[in-house]
Amino acid sequence: MQIRRLKLSGFKSFVEPAELRIEPGLTGVVGPNGCGKSNLLEAIRWVMGENSPKSMRSGGMEDVIFAGTAQRPPRDFAEVVLHATDDSGEDMEVTRRIERGAGSAYRVNGKDVRAKDVALAFADAATGAHSPALVSQGKIAQVIAAKPTERRQMLEEAAGIAGLHVRRRDAESK
Ligand code: ATP
Ligand code: MG
Repeated sequence: MQIRRLKLSGFKSFVEPAELRIEPGLTGVVGPNGCGKSNLLEAIRWVMGENSPKSMRSGGMEDVIFAGTAQRPPRDFAEVVLHATDDSGEDMEVTRRIERGAGSAYRVNGKDVRAKDVALAFADAATGAHSPALVSQGKIAQVIAAKPTERRQMLEEAAGIAGLHVRRRDAESK
């Protein structure tokens, strides 16, 4: 799967609608402290279904909505749209939106879907919110310090074969 485009609106520090094109290959995010590099990676994880406050560096679900500054009022929703093409070249557009007091909702190619459907779509493409293809700050040191078995696990996940082990264990237990 290749992520092609990312659109953010009201997500964390991305208060104004922003659109990014992501080219094939390795993408690095650089910029001064506090400019929103980590927020960008979190937006990709969030649209893929991430809810863990630790991964999102937030206390509650609604903390991803632009909270306002001295100059700007807060927003009442956050939205992230991820446009990707799968390995067969099929387009997929996933939208996640959260409104204050109304929870979050997902759409795939314009149709309302459940969170579970989004998780499955990314799992089948061997990617998702916990994909080792998304390397956050500190993760590089973790890869270097990992024991050989842990590093092998990371590589297997990156290669998209981790799911096969899950299915094998499942089959063996039957
Ligand atoms: P560093 O180089 O220090 O890692 P960074 O580029 O990764 O910085 P981020 O952590 O992505 O920066 O962005 C931090 C900024 O995002 C802070 O200024 C913080 O106030 C802002 N921010 C985070 N959540 C929100 C929110 N809900 N509303 C408004 N601003 C937010
Ligand atoms: Mg950061």
